[in-house]
Amino acid sequence: MSATLIKGTEIREEILEEITAEVAGIKEKHGVVPGLVTILVGESPASISYVTLKIKTAHRVGFNEVQDNQSPDISEEDLLALIDKYNNDESIHGILVQLPLPKHIDEKKILNAIDPDKDVDGFHPVNVGRLMIGGDEVKFPPCTPAGIQEMIIRAGVETSGAEVVVVGRSNIVGKPIANMMLQKGDGANSTVTVVHTRTKDLEGHCKRADILIVAAGVPGLVKPEWIKPGACVIDVGVNRVGEKPSKKDPSRMVAVLKGDVDFDAAKEIAGSITPVPGGVGPMTITMLMKNTLKSLKFKLGIN
Ligand code: NAD
Repeated sequence: MSATLIKGTEIREEILEEITAEVAGIKEKHGVVPGLVTILVGESPASISYVTLKIKTAHRVGFNEVQDNQSPDISEEDLLALIDKYNNDESIHGILVQLPLPKHIDEKKILNAIDPDKDVDGFHPVNVGRLMIGGDEVKFPPCTPAGIQEMIIRAGVETSGAEVVVVGRSNIVGKPIANMMLQKGDGANSTVTVVHTRTKDLEGHCKRADILIVAAGVPGLVKPEWIKPGACVIDVGVNRVGEKPSKKDPSRMVAVLKGDVDFDAAKEIAGSITPVPGGVGPMTITMLMKNTLKSLKFKLGIN
């Protein structure tokens, strides 16, 4: 039997349509739209392509998108002053600093300077603390974990009392998603185990999972026989394993991407599974839009 595919590309469309409608409604009633600034330092091609996608998505949902490109030579002091300017700008509800930053700038210092109430990435220690407390305290869940939880909910997977195993303990995926799944509330109430490089019996833990969330960055780490029949498998891994000619323009090479799970074999055992690409990937920017809209709604007191 083949698993149901949980497609991020389709869920993204649903959510972006919901956001667009909500933005239009707020604009009509309150005369304001969410304002999102992206600060890009330097010209790394990977950062530019990611930022370009953010801008396109922000425009699509009707946001006021401010693109602030800075020279790679900008001093830490000037970058801090820029953040202070946007912290005090009433028309801006979300501030993003595209990482990585040049070596002469302390990333932590920059991220910590963002007003936590405009930190739509959810990486500021105040927002990490709010996430840990859970419930009404949470303002901006980090975007990739929020996307994972949203996919699980929209796929109709039962989370209450479910055994959730998270492979990976990074600050951007593993730790926050583990924390979110164990909270009280919809799409949560799970019993969570986090496994990592020092775990003794990775296979044994994975085999128990009703919901297996894999964010290790190791292609094919999770073998099909580690998957409990009928489990929901969320593969967060994005690994470049080679190159192939582009479909649109065969003279151009594009990356071949693989997840952390052996997809072809796993889909015959799992009940539902996310593909790579087209699974968790499209959800991150989508949830960033959702957080920016939330920020405006918090300000207007309409949550
Ligand atoms: P990371 O390198 O910061 O963390 C990886 C974690 O996996 C570590 O905690 C490590 O202990 C664990 N791990 C690594 N190898 C392991 C092994 N052999 N056995 C058990 N545990 C192991 O990575 P990250 O930032 O959390 O990202 C993980 C993957 O998810 C990457 O492939 C990344 O590209 C992808 N990712 C995708 C999105 C998205 O699709 N939007 C967002 C973030 C990360």
